[in-house]
Amino acid sequence: MPLMTSKQYVESLAKMDRNIWFQGKKIEDPINHPLLIPSRKCLEETYDMAFMPEFEDLMTATSQFTGHKINRFNHIHNSKEDLNKKVKLQRLMGQRTGSCFQRCVIMDMANSFYSTTYEIDETYGTTYFQRFKDYIIRCQDEDLIVAGALTDPKGSRSAKIGGDEQDKDLYLRVVERRPDGVVVNGAKAHLTGITNAHEVVVLPTQAMRPGQEDYAIAFHLPLDAPGITMIVGRQSCDTRKMEDIADIDLGNAKFGGIEALTIFDHVFVPNENIFLNGETDFAGMLVERFAGYHRNSYGGCKSGVGDVAIGAASLIAQYNGTEKASHIKDKLVEMTQLNEQLYCAGIASSAEGWQTKAGNYMVDLLLANVCKLNVTRYPYEIVRLMEDIAGGIMVTAPSEADLRSAEIGHYVEKYLVGNAVNAEDRLRALRLCENLALGTAAVGYRTESMHGAGSPQAQKVMITRQGNFEGKKGLAKRLAGIKE
Ligand code: SF4
Ligand code: FE
Repeated sequence: MPLMTSKQYVESLAKMDRNIWFQGKKIEDPINHPLLIPSRKCLEETYDMAFMPEFEDLMTATSQFTGHKINRFNHIHNSKEDLNKKVKLQRLMGQRTGSCFQRCVIMDMANSFYSTTYEIDETYGTTYFQRFKDYIIRCQDEDLIVAGALTDPKGSRSAKIGGDEQDKDLYLRVVERRPDGVVVNGAKAHLTGITNAHEVVVLPTQAMRPGQEDYAIAFHLPLDAPGITMIVGRQSCDTRKMEDIADIDLGNAKFGGIEALTIFDHVFVPNENIFLNGETDFAGMLVERFAGYHRNSYGGCKSGVGDVAIGAASLIAQYNGTEKASHIKDKLVEMTQLNEQLYCAGIASSAEGWQTKAGNYMVDLLLANVCKLNVTRYPYEIVRLMEDIAGGIMVTAPSEADLRSAEIGHYVEKYLVGNAVNAEDRLRALRLCENLALGTAAVGYRTESMHGAGSPQAQKVMITRQGNFEGKKGLAKRLAGIKE
């Protein structure tokens, strides 16, 4: 049964005994905890939309392994058209949720594992490719949500991995080797959507060198495996989700993203779950390919959330009675130009994709890195323009509880009205702007735009490598008549 309903998805999560913490307390009932629900609603949306005929083409794909109709988030890209649909799917989901919808990491990791394990086997005669293929077929057929774990906490960035200057566990590593598997110890940071996932795939944080074999480890595990602890990250305005009368104050009461610091405290990984084990020369390929796919993804998801920001800005301009002012129109055009540039680079990096040795399709790395470098800047400018249009009331307006108050609610209703709009709807539009700029969605729209899929310097390093400056020097020399 390759396509689950959202109800079946929630039931499957409820059967798991997961160890999730927030504000120093264990969350005993993760299914009904108000902090975790908006994140799960995003994931539920990926199940629900797969059954909607109008979204079927983007939300689902046919597995090349089984012929089954599967959710596209678990698909191995078979063509450039698949890469194109991936970005379109991400824009659609960004529009629907106004948030990071958290299911893309496995799509991007699976495709990088698929091609890299093939090449590891070619070099070392290992059998990782078949093992990974079997795993992704299971994810497809069981319609699983798989979180991805890349970033180690690192401690001092100038300390050597595995060196004696600091705690070795700051990079996740193998601490024991047994005939039937390995024991790993360490942690992974910023794990998107992990509190509502079934499984996690772990990969090294960066390229590794000989001598760092214990850190060149990749594997999958169910998230109720003994020794795994998820500590939910704080977000600005997060406890509004736990208040009784705060639907308006949330801005986007239904959807939101979650990240967690995830600890692997002496966790056993059976051999059959391992996809890389000491082959240090392939850690870099794995990470680089994952980063490439995920940087391409941002051209879709962030432009989708950008559409919501542009919509919120247009709406509040209407409610403020400023929408006919020429400077407001100009700002909306500028927001749109910036947003479409993000999408252009996402689509271009898909269109220029290429076939790997394993047969799946990889995005163009230069264009994907340019895409993500733009994402580290443009959403900030889009949000700045949205705040300019919204006005200061976006951050000084009274709460929903004030609006509902029998004693003072009439003041809020009287003084918060706008241009042919009541106070409640104007507050709703303002709070959505606040949510995108400063609230829980800001994690997904602003800071994630900066650091998700790698910080700007990581993209500049890749652009330096992919930029072919020597080839371009040759073009210049030829035209300038310089012979060597
Ligand atoms: Fe998907 Fe974007 Fe969230 Fe990454 S940041 S998981 S690409 S929505
Ligand atoms: Fe992300």
